[in-house]
Amino acid sequence: PDTLLDIRGLKTWFKTEDGMVRAVDGVDLHIDRGETVGVVGESGCGKTVTARSVLKLIDMPPGRFEAGQILWQGRDLIPLEQAEMNRIRAREIAIIFQEPMTSLNPVYTVGDQIAEVIALHQKLSPRQAMAGAAEMLRLVNIPNPQKRVHDYPHQFSGGMRQRVMIAMALSCQPKLLIADEPTTALDVTIQAQILELMQEMKEKFGMAIMLITHAMGVVAETCQRVTVMYAGKVVEEAPVEALFSDPRHPYTQGLIRSIPRIDRAVSRQARLESIQGTVPSLLNPPAGCRFAARCKYAMDICTQGIPPLKEVAPGHRVACVL
Ligand code: SF4
Repeated sequence: PDTLLDIRGLKTWFKTEDGMVRAVDGVDLHIDRGETVGVVGESGCGKTVTARSVLKLIDMPPGRFEAGQILWQGRDLIPLEQAEMNRIRAREIAIIFQEPMTSLNPVYTVGDQIAEVIALHQKLSPRQAMAGAAEMLRLVNIPNPQKRVHDYPHQFSGGMRQRVMIAMALSCQPKLLIADEPTTALDVTIQAQILELMQEMKEKFGMAIMLITHAMGVVAETCQRVTVMYAGKVVEEAPVEALFSDPRHPYTQGLIRSIPRIDRAVSRQARLESIQGTVPSLLNPPAGCRFAARCKYAMDICTQGIPPLKEVAPGHRVACVL
C-alpha cells in the first residue's frame, strides 16, 4: 500500500512543574492514501496530542519531541523548519477541530477566509477566489452560498460552522484531513450529517482521513482501520471489522461493550466512561501494562514490563500478554 503518514515510536512529552508528562509515549501509527483511520480512546489517552504532533501544533516548550519520527510521504517532519511546515499545513495536511471557532477568525467573513486559502494555491483574482469560496460552500451543502460568503462565523449555527471549516480545510485539497472530534459538540442528527459529508468529500477528493474520536459508533460507521490508544500508547490496531468482531485487548473489549445497543445514533454520543477505574497518571506511568489497574485479567507478569504490540492476524496487532 501507498503509505502517506508513518508515525514511528513517537514520544511527545510535556515538562510541568511536577515533572515530565508522557502524553504520547512510543506511538506507531500509519495511514495509507485514501483510507480513513480512526484513533480512539478516552480523553487524555494521547490521541489529540498525536494528531497535533503531526502538524507540529504543540507549544514547545513545554512540549517536546522526545523520540521517534513522523514520516510524511517518507520525509521526517520533526526536524523541518516552521516555513516548510507552514507549506505542508497549507497544502498537504489539513486539520479540523471540535470547535470550529478555534480556527475561524471572527473578524473576517467566511468567504474571505476560504478565498485566502484558495488564493494560496491558484493564481486567481480576488473576485475569482471569492467565487471559488462560494463554490466550496455549495459543495458542503450550505444553502445560499453566494450570499453566505459575506457572513461572519458567528452568523452560522454550530453544524453550519463545522461545514464552513470542512470547506476551508478542503480548499487546500489536502492529501490528509485530520479531524479531531469533529462532531462531538454537535447534536445527534447534525453529527450524522457532518460524518456523511466528510465521507462524500473523501470520495470526491480522494483524501485520507485521520479521525480522532472517543465514540466507537462513529468509528464503526466511517473507518476502515482503527488504532486504539490508552494512556499514551497504542494497545490495539486492526481493520474495523476485526476490531468489532474479535477485539483482543481487554481495554478494546471494554470500549465495545460500552456502546449502547438500542440505537446507533445514541452510540455516537456514548462516552467511554463505563469501564471501571481511571486512566493512570502519565507523570509516573506504571512500569508494566498501563491498563493493569483496570484489567480483570491482570497477572503478575503484566506489571513487570510493557507488553509490545504483536501481530495476531494480518493487520491486527495487540499489546497484551494474553
Ligand atoms: Fe490486562 Fe495484562 Fe493484558 Fe494488560 S497485559 S491488558 S493487564 S492482561
